[in-house]
Parts: sequence; structure tokens; C-alpha cells
Amino acid sequence: MMRFHVLTIFPGMFDSPLSLSIIARAQKQGLVEVNLHNIRDFTHDRHNTVDDYPFGGGPGMVMKPDPLFEGVEHVRESESLDENVPTVLMTPQGRQFNQRIAEDLSDLSDMVIICGRYEGVDERVRQNLVTDEISIGDYVLGGGELAAMVVIDAVARLIPGVVGSAESPANDSHTTGLLQHPLYTRPSVFRGMEAPDVLLSGHHAEITKWQRWEALRRTLERRPDMLESTELSPDDRRFLDELRDERERDD
Ligand code: SAM
Repeated sequence: MMRFHVLTIFPGMFDSPLSLSIIARAQKQGLVEVNLHNIRDFTHDRHNTVDDYPFGGGPGMVMKPDPLFEGVEHVRESESLDENVPTVLMTPQGRQFNQRIAEDLSDLSDMVIICGRYEGVDERVRQNLVTDEISIGDYVLGGGELAAMVVIDAVARLIPGVVGSAESPANDSHTTGLLQHPLYTRPSVFRGMEAPDVLLSGHHAEITKWQRWEALRRTLERRPDMLESTELSPDDRRFLDELRDERERDD
């Protein structure tokens, strides 16, 4: 069981993504828990203020430190979590999220996630409250909620039992170090377009070989950078050399 504790000013944004498909099933099965905490509940003024003007001037507003500290402290105390529980700030300035990070996070029992809004959070939150900062890519979103949902989705599907063996993540792109091979389903001939014969042959060794080679071909075409850090067999290397020679001849 993994528990995500999310601090946000828009808990309602999580309703639909969490109530459908794999993540909904995982929660019902007790494999994943997502606890949403409204940051405004940790304010003490009439207007439940969570933001204020930036010191030094400039555009936009900054998320105040007090509700965020109180919110995280509340979660840690009420859930009996260690003060070193991974506490992640979603920010475009963080380390870039990828499948390796998702795999590491899926080993945790609890994880606190802070969703920023406005111009971002007071620097003291970054320095003294959070233990990790994650970005989901080099672009700027209006808030950390969608980014948090991306992280929750990618991490949750790696928790044993969340994804059935039929939909096993083991062959997914980035898990194997390669992009996944092309996929086909029925009908075998669709509007004159045929699925590869080998996939219909029932010959498992040949199918596995085809899938490996097509994954290598696709990765070479689209993400050659990935081949530099992937474990490759002598057969893989021979096939890639052939593909590169083919390309040179075609150029
Ligand atoms: N002014 C900030 C900056 O330049 O770094 C960006 C603030 S953004 C408008 C508001 C919030 O959205 C951020 O505090 C963060 O929580 C979230 N956010 C935006 N882009 C993100 C990304 N690529 N990854 C993760 N969180 C992001």
C-alpha cells in the first residue's frame, strides 16, 4: 500500500482522474491511497489567504510559507509520519521526472506532494520543508496539480498488483530502456492494411525476436540517445549496425 498526501488549493481537480480506470481500481483494492488536503484549511484569517505580494516587488503573488508548513506538519503528525518522509514540491525548477524516478518512488510507503500556484512558493518552503523537487518537463503549468497527477499515475501503476499481468508495465517504453515495439490487434487486415505475418504465426521465439528488433529500430529512429545507456546484447548491436548501414545506403 502506498499513500500519497497531497497539499493543494484545488482538491477538486483530482476528482475525475482519481475516480476512473487503474487508479480508481487500485484505491478500491487498498493498494493506493490519495489523501487530499486543502492548503486553505491551514490559514487563520477570515479570507483563508494562501498568497501574498512578493518582497522586492515584481509581478504575481507568492504562496505564503505558514499554511504550507502547518499543512505538512499536520499531515506528518496525523499520519504518524517521520519528519523525513519524502516531501516533494512540484516545480518547473526541479529534477526532471522520468521512469527511473517513478520506479524509485514506487518503493515508498508514504509521499507528501505540494502543489504550487501563482508565481510559486516562498523560498523557505523549498529550503526547510521539502526534501525533493520534481518537474514534469520544461514548460510552465498554471499549477502543480496536473503535475502531481502525472507523478501519482506513473508511480501508482508500478506498485505491485495495481496493473494486472496482462497489461504488465515490464515491456513499456522507458522501462526496458527502449521504446516499445509497434502494436497490432484484430482485424489482421484493416482497409487493406495488413498486420505483420510473424505476429499471427504463433511462433513465440520469432515474435519475441521481431518485437525486440522493432523496438530497437523505433528507438534508433526516434530516441537514439536512449541507446547509449541501455544494455544491448551482441545480437542487438549487430542488428543496429545493419540498420545504420541500411540508412547510410539510403541517404
Ligand atoms: N514562477 C515559477 C517559475 O518560473 O519557476 C512558475 C510558477 S507556475 C505558474 C505555478 C506552479 O505550477 C508552480 O509553483 C508549480 O507547483 C507548478 N508547475 C508549473 N510547471 C510545472 C512543471 N513543469 N512541473 C511541475 N510543476 C509545475
